Amino acid sequence: MNLVQKIFDAGVVGAGGAGFPTHVKAKSSVEFVLANGAECEPLIHKDFELMCNFPDEIVNGVELMTKQTSAKKAYFGIKAKNVEAVDEIEKRIKETKTEMCLLGDFYPSGDEYELVYAATKRLIPPHGLPLDVGCVVNNVETFYNISRAIDDKPVTQKFISVAGCVKKPSSFFVPIGTSFQELLNHAGGSTVSDYGIFVSGILMGKLTFDLTEVVTKTTSGIIILPKEHYLINRMERPKASMNRIGKSACDQCSYCTEFCPRYLLGYDVQPHKVMRSLVFSTSGEAVWNQYADLCCSCGLCSLYSCPEDLYPREACDQGKAELKKQGMIYEQLKPVKVHPIKEGRRVPLKQLMKRIDVLKYDNHTPYVKESPKPTQVKILLKQHVGVAAKPVIKLGAIVNEGTLIADIEEGKLGSRIHASISGKVTHVSEEFIRITG
Ligand code: SF4
Ligand code: SF4
Repeated sequence: MNLVQKIFDAGVVGAGGAGFPTHVKAKSSVEFVLANGAECEPLIHKDFELMCNFPDEIVNGVELMTKQTSAKKAYFGIKAKNVEAVDEIEKRIKETKTEMCLLGDFYPSGDEYELVYAATKRLIPPHGLPLDVGCVVNNVETFYNISRAIDDKPVTQKFISVAGCVKKPSSFFVPIGTSFQELLNHAGGSTVSDYGIFVSGILMGKLTFDLTEVVTKTTSGIIILPKEHYLINRMERPKASMNRIGKSACDQCSYCTEFCPRYLLGYDVQPHKVMRSLVFSTSGEAVWNQYADLCCSCGLCSLYSCPEDLYPREACDQGKAELKKQGMIYEQLKPVKVHPIKEGRRVPLKQLMKRIDVLKYDNHTPYVKESPKPTQVKILLKQHVGVAAKPVIKLGAIVNEGTLIADIEEGKLGSRIHASISGKVTHVSEEFIRITG
């Protein structure tokens, strides 16, 4: 059986982003395969731990993908500061087609557009994909899963970090569908009584207070911060209030644009212009919203650049949603050209962490072999790009870890889903399947 089929059967999706089904990428022919180990979100270190502890599997996955896509070369994008991970990988790529692409400690060096440029000096066209410039990019954990898929091992576990205000910050494998409560217990519990939970990152992740939420194939970890933390107060503000403040306080200084990583790469993203949409009614706002269309929602403008502590990222998110609703796509007419000052405007991660007051929570999250053993898991059927998987088991069925429980109709984009623990199926709906161990 070929690798594409094995990846599909194992339900491998992008482990570091939106969960794009990996078998689709594996079908393409490219020049370069890129392993993304940049891990630029503050506090989460799961990719670093995975590279230090499972380098053979990751390198094997990269080699399999390189062969499959007929790529002439592969690159590992890792921050130079992560010396241990660099050493482990470097030892294993000697005399292969794979090279190291050492990255500085900046945010957001893990953005696909940034990484493709850093490794190949190619610029992805506006609204394009790495494939448009002959590249396939996957997170290092995705490569780990590819190397297991070749041995017919489906994706049943996720590697995550639990960080912030917890007694034992750590990284470990966890069955997909495990609740955040179980993760927190496994990390020794919280060190503060009232807290919020950032899921998969502070800048690009989401905030929740719900410990019954569960791990999916794309969760990179949870970060516990005290409820009174500045970031939680900020994110809890209602949209209407964000807009009202933006409307009255934005002085159009344009710092948000000047530091925007996409703008500096040459894309026509101009959050200061998007802020103007807040003062216009529907007749005028579309003009300004266009400058949001190529924004990657990295959050830098809101959490770092704006001296007034406003919400340009949120304005861009609203702008993009509005354009989508109207079926509009902004066509960038000028060529994509890197801004001459780009390198001088990069934002060091430490400086960003200081600015958002999380430097004090930046602990080591060492790999611990023992995994949580949940007595039940809630496995979501839409945890990937594409259509939701359809249940193929009945209520009351007995399943083993790895049993196929939901499948994708032929010809549709999506990913297969497997039981992450052994037990009895106690809930089946179009949204999720619960297994009680
Ligand atoms: S940085 Fe802040 S104040 Fe300046 S233009 Fe952007 S949103 Fe307005
Ligand atoms: S979130 Fe802000 S800084 Fe990031 S790409 Fe969008 S506009 Fe630029």
